[in-house]
Amino acid sequence: MRVGIIGGGAAGLAAAYELTKRGHYAEVFERAPFLGGQASTFPVGGGKLERGYHHLFVSDTAMTELVHELGLGNKLAWLESKVGLFYEGKIWDFATPLDLLRFTPLSVIQRLRVGLWTFVLQKTRNWRKFEQVTATDWLKRHMGTRAYEVIWEPLLRGKFGAYYDQVSMTWLWGKVYLRVASRGKGMQKELLGYPMGSFGEVFDTLGARIREMGGDVHISAGVNRVIVEDGRAVGMEVQFPGEDPEDRQYDAVIATTPSYVFVRLVPPMPKEYEAKLTGVRYLSAVLVILVLDRPLSDKYWMNVGDRSLPFLGVIEHTNMIDKSLYGGNHIVYLTNYPSRDSELYKKTSEDLLEEFIPHLCKLNPDFDRSWILEFHHHKVDGAQPIIGVNYGKHIPDHQTPFKHLYLANTTQIYPEDRGTNYSVRMGREVARMVMEDAGNASVGSNTGE
Ligand SMILES: Cc1cc2nc3c(=O)[nH]c(=O)nc-3n(C[C@H](O)[C@H](O)[C@H](O)COP(=O)(O)OP(=O)(O)OC[C@H]3O[C@@H](n4cnc5c(N)ncnc54)[C@H](O)[C@@H]3O)c2cc1C
Repeated sequence: MRVGIIGGGAAGLAAAYELTKRGHYAEVFERAPFLGGQASTFPVGGGKLERGYHHLFVSDTAMTELVHELGLGNKLAWLESKVGLFYEGKIWDFATPLDLLRFTPLSVIQRLRVGLWTFVLQKTRNWRKFEQVTATDWLKRHMGTRAYEVIWEPLLRGKFGAYYDQVSMTWLWGKVYLRVASRGKGMQKELLGYPMGSFGEVFDTLGARIREMGGDVHISAGVNRVIVEDGRAVGMEVQFPGEDPEDRQYDAVIATTPSYVFVRLVPPMPKEYEAKLTGVRYLSAVLVILVLDRPLSDKYWMNVGDRSLPFLGVIEHTNMIDKSLYGGNHIVYLTNYPSRDSELYKKTSEDLLEEFIPHLCKLNPDFDRSWILEFHHHKVDGAQPIIGVNYGKHIPDHQTPFKHLYLANTTQIYPEDRGTNYSVRMGREVARMVMEDAGNASVGSNTGE
């Protein structure tokens, strides 16, 4: 069987890997000049750094297994994370229940109430009861307005920007549940995983493995459209740089692009399915990455609970990952998740930097711009689908209304928050679905016949 795959991120590569492993031919087309999609990397200080900060949770078993399968298990480190909250001019430790008890901006009663309900969430398995309520409403009702505004609103704003109060409680439940799963034995410390050669190395190795097994993986190669005849996908129009578009025939096509891209690649679909594709809203990630000659803080992950700062999260990568991987320098991400029509999204790199710099001394009074050796600016579109109430009812099926055409994108990950782990799991699952539908799950030819 020949399968065409649109997108060389975690989902597309995992699907191709699963297919080629079972003896089928898979051909991946990635429009960008690199693999890895949202988890892709760029060179910094002699190492490779993700365009957007990345780590794994202990519960990310699909990704962890893949890393081991690729022979990179010895590079996967599990490290203690240092979490903080910037509030009222101070960086508070915010990693353990004890930190919560010491968090004096809330009264003792308020702290206990947050602790109690967080514990209840950690023990709750039935997430469906949260589907119809926003996180804002649930948190205010159970933990109180003050605790919501101080602790939870910054977290929701950090991930969903202006849409923070529309997010479903199911999403927040998933976050709390997974973070607990990422605690080491003894329940106090959170462990996060990182492949020491970068996520980019994992996806480049995956691409190489697919090629070794007879598949093809192309970068700088976009798909213009999926060719559909008599209601079934039969091929794709693909485009290599500087060449005319060409048609390629496949027995099945898997698309891993965001939904708003996918609708443009296919002929009009039945209204109900199309409405699910066009109904989902996405935020982009806007990241300013500073390469500093010294640390900014001692935290790996810091939520910003002070709205006067123009960024919502500060991730100091080298407070978890050894700085020697980046020439001994310190790496700090300043993050926001705006929509593509926002002012922040449209700003130039220089304007963003000038806007952000004056606020860095709030995090560290000694900060001086001379500490900045380099800065980088990345925008990741389609970075975060907005998970509103009753989200589960609006998820499109992997099997689209066109026969032999499948969709595997981040909008279909639920109730967990999207991440490389779930894209890998989904890519492999959809590949199996394609093979089962073709009725030959374990036989086939990888010669392209
Ligand atoms: C700032 C940020 C931080 C994150 N942090 C973490 C983290 O800590 N841990 C974690 O596990 N996950 C994290 N994630 C999420 C994770 O990166 C994604 O969920 C995952 O990588 C998505 O993989 P995917 O293959 O589903 O989609 P994508 O990575 O979006 O891949 C889709 C690919 O399709 C390509 N494409 C689009 N249109 C076409 C076309 N017409 N032709 C050919 N190719 C096309 C795109 O270029 C892209 O490479 C983060 C994401 C962001 C943005």
